[in-house]
Amino acid sequence: MIHKVLVSACLLGSPVRYNGAAKTLAHPLLEAWQREGRVVSVCPELMGGFGVPRPAAEIARAESGDRVLAGAAQVVDASGADVTALFVAGARAALASALEHDCRFALLIDGSPSCGSRFIYDGSFSGQRHAGAGVTAALLRAHGIEVFADSEIEALGERLAQEEA
Ligand code: SF4
Repeated sequence: MIHKVLVSACLLGSPVRYNGAAKTLAHPLLEAWQREGRVVSVCPELMGGFGVPRPAAEIARAESGDRVLAGAAQVVDASGADVTALFVAGARAALASALEHDCRFALLIDGSPSCGSRFIYDGSFSGQRHAGAGVTAALLRAHGIEVFADSEIEALGERLAQEEA
């Protein structure tokens, strides 16, 4: 069985980040997965209702995505506005897309308050980061989807090879 992979749209070259840029990951594995038709592109923040560009946002008070989903933490933008509802809506839309395409694996860009899976920023908008996951990564994991950061693409490749052996 060929497994599909949910992938952050900005890693695929879509200029959908808050600042209107992409963060393209040029890697032979990702190119191969695209040729094989495995890739399901999502941008949770656009799916949640944000536009491009948009203010930078971080999960407040050094919390993480699972606490946001539990209603115990907020996502705020750089002006201090509470944008939690849009982040949760985006996470749910990304999960719906993963389920629709039967994705058991995801490759998401690290550091984002949506897509981060190993680290995120602490809500101080000062570049301070800590271990934790964004709202979408946390929701996907809560539904059994294995989330890999962009820095872990080779580990995901090994995982897929193992599953498909
Ligand atoms: Fe990229 Fe995810 Fe942010 Fe969309 S929500 S711009 S896919 S990091």
